[in-house]
Amino acid sequence: MKFMDEFRDADLVKRTLDEIQRTVTRPWVIMEICGGQTHAIMRYGLDQLLPPEIELVHGPGCPVCVTPLELIDKALAIACQPDVIFTSYGDMLRVPGSEKDLFSARANGADVRVVYSPLDAVKIAQENPGKEVVFFAIGFETTAPANAMSVVQAKALGIQNFSVLVSHVCVPPAMQAILGSSANRVQAFLAAGHVCAVMGYWEYPPIAETHKTPIVVTGFEPVDILQGILHAVRHLEASQWVAGNAYSRAVTFKGNQPAQKIINQVFELCDRKWRGIGAIPMSGWCLRSEFAEFNAETRFKVEQIQPEESPLCISGLILQGLSKPNECPAFGQECTPERPLGATMVSSEGACAAYYRYRLHFANV
Ligand code: SF4
Repeated sequence: MKFMDEFRDADLVKRTLDEIQRTVTRPWVIMEICGGQTHAIMRYGLDQLLPPEIELVHGPGCPVCVTPLELIDKALAIACQPDVIFTSYGDMLRVPGSEKDLFSARANGADVRVVYSPLDAVKIAQENPGKEVVFFAIGFETTAPANAMSVVQAKALGIQNFSVLVSHVCVPPAMQAILGSSANRVQAFLAAGHVCAVMGYWEYPPIAETHKTPIVVTGFEPVDILQGILHAVRHLEASQWVAGNAYSRAVTFKGNQPAQKIINQVFELCDRKWRGIGAIPMSGWCLRSEFAEFNAETRFKVEQIQPEESPLCISGLILQGLSKPNECPAFGQECTPERPLGATMVSSEGACAAYYRYRLHFANV
């Protein structure tokens, strides 16, 4: 398959590994931001093929993982109200709230529907004027343009029975929070290629320079990831505090500017809580006041729901690169993909779920 098979080519993987081996002279800790990258690293065993000097730690770039527990509970509270059609991408339906998930709410009679685009939710609202239709708008910069478009379209069409439950998060503030921590171990980042396809990487050079931490835009196939690591190691070895691009077939410096324009039209930066990590200032997007009428949290008066996370869970440490999933006492015991306790086990892209699937033999069990 064009643009796929060649990036899984075994010879190219080996040649890139050899080049990394020739380049590295001392230990380095590199964080891959995205859960999709974590999953690929585990699936292909890339971390085990790297020279021992290179340690990979797993970042907070899994949107399902970092959606706060209270947002799940708010989604459930809205979905269970009469005359509501609650719409969401499928991966959020099995994420447990404090007591249940959206699947079980649906089994108990709530009208919960999977959609493949927020624009489908707008159409459902048009077709069901007697119902309130809510879309669960979560995710990073990748999903924000389509979610913003749904709000613009609903406003343009005068649709009053559509709203969005928003929990958008942004990558650069999370990187800065990790680098600004006194416990930080991260010395270079592999930035998430799909986020940068939307946003470009113009925000990264000042972060790289300020924190003396190279950042390399990286894709998702084995060769992509190893190329990203090679670029990062070259920059680290040469003390180059720069932002580079190892995913140029999909990413430009400025990114997708029409997408950025519609994000900025609908959303503005706000403080946002990240599941497992806590609040990070100005790390998310909220609806601008011009679009406040589409805010499901205020429409359904669910702002006050504040549940507690499991005290056993160390996912906050994992998401900051300070621990590995197999170091959690609950891993594979109290916490499994079927009964997840915390952020990094709730999604198949979470680091704990990836370790459970590919590295269960590493567990302390
Ligand atoms: S294994 Fe479960 S409880 Fe432990 S850190 Fe991961 S998500 Fe949290």
